[in-house]
Amino acid sequence: MSVTSHDPGPYAGVGPQSEFNPYEAMLDRFEQAAKRLKLDPGVYDILKSTDRELTVSVPCLMDDGSYRVFRGYRVQHNLAVGPAKGGIRFAPDVTLDEVRALAAWMTWKCAVVGVPFGGAKGGVVCDPKALSIGEVERITRRYTAAIMDIIGPERDVPAPDVNTNEQVMAWIMDTYSMHVRHTVTAVVTGKPVGLGGSLGRREATGRGVLFVLREAAKVRNLDLTNAKVVVQGFGNVGGIGAELIHAEGAKIVGVSDIEGGIHCEAGLDIPKLIEWSKEHGSVVGFPGADAVGKEEIVELPCDVLVPAATENVIRQSNADQVKASIIVEGANGPTTARADEILQEKGVFVVPDILANAGGVTVSYLEWVQDRMGYFWEEDEVNRRLGIVMRRAFHEVHEMAEKHDVGMRIAAYMLGIDRVATFMSKRGIYA
Ligand code: NAD
Repeated sequence: MSVTSHDPGPYAGVGPQSEFNPYEAMLDRFEQAAKRLKLDPGVYDILKSTDRELTVSVPCLMDDGSYRVFRGYRVQHNLAVGPAKGGIRFAPDVTLDEVRALAAWMTWKCAVVGVPFGGAKGGVVCDPKALSIGEVERITRRYTAAIMDIIGPERDVPAPDVNTNEQVMAWIMDTYSMHVRHTVTAVVTGKPVGLGGSLGRREATGRGVLFVLREAAKVRNLDLTNAKVVVQGFGNVGGIGAELIHAEGAKIVGVSDIEGGIHCEAGLDIPKLIEWSKEHGSVVGFPGADAVGKEEIVELPCDVLVPAATENVIRQSNADQVKASIIVEGANGPTTARADEILQEKGVFVVPDILANAGGVTVSYLEWVQDRMGYFWEEDEVNRRLGIVMRRAFHEVHEMAEKHDVGMRIAAYMLGIDRVATFMSKRGIYA
């Protein structure tokens, strides 16, 4: 069956106009993968578009008695495979294009790891650092009420992302439950344990990073116990990732956060650094380490680089300076499309975001399953299942890369897009 397109051409006009627009970056990779898959033009058009984009006003009563109105988004990219899934971020620089890209990445990510969800993402334009906890709670509850009609355990299941956490998820769950008049734990994942949260969820993305790093090291014949590793970002993904990679025996020689970076050739004592960072609010100033600029951290000599902070940190202007032979993308979208080409020429093995950080959504799925069963597994069981999923996904992507002679990123897109397209074709397109 073929579906015709009314656009000028099936693959026309979606190249990246700006290196740093994440939606254009996503479309650029999508286009490369779609061409190789010889995707039906109609299916291409459907997958290129987002299914639904909701923009809402979020009025908030501030502590000083005034009202402020914040802007919120929830974008559902594709719902063919199941309920949409994706985090909610609170940040001053959230844009609709960023949320669109993140939503589409969630569609491909879920498909790559075989989790039966579609892709979504949400955001509220605000600076949580400048807000009181009460203000954050009121923004969360009003935003939840505003997107109520499109979320739910069968529709769209949010999760934490940048600047949102277990507490924010608990408020969303409570607000949704109050509106529908009964407790619905499965409406969000990443909740506190004891409130429908899963053991192992907090560590899941960092643990998933370790699982795929182990496989990448085998492919590249790198002994992890002798490896030097640099981690950018020391939050949920980077902090826990660094802790687990350190426990594996590797030397973490550099770490950074929003305040700056640190470097120690002999290797950082990560458990002590975690304590330091909790106490001082940053890794900066850690005794025995040299200061490094936030930008230079990705250029430090090392075997493995784990960007686990934010988007566009490896770009055309610095990709050539990257020394690592393996990059494991803990963050979403840390490498621009132009940087990808440079890294590929240099022979760097990149484990792309939609595979490398999929541990989070995998255990979110396990949390949703446990909520719906009303029965909770021990942490070992959650970690065991996560390991099976991550190893299988890594090798499926690697086989795709070898078979089509493409890098791991395009291979991951090909795998994810092909799975969603196959699902859609089997259902039939209601048009
Ligand atoms: P977080 O808020 O817990 O931590 C972010 C860390 O990055 C902090 O240490 C912050 O100081 C640092 N940071 C921010 N901007 C920086 C910069 N310019 N330079 C250096 N450090 C900087 O967030 P997180 O949950 O760890 O998410 C990090 C990335 O991982 C995001 O791209 C997110 O979308 C992605 N991700 C998170 C999860 C998850 O389960 N938390 C899952 C998949 C992907």
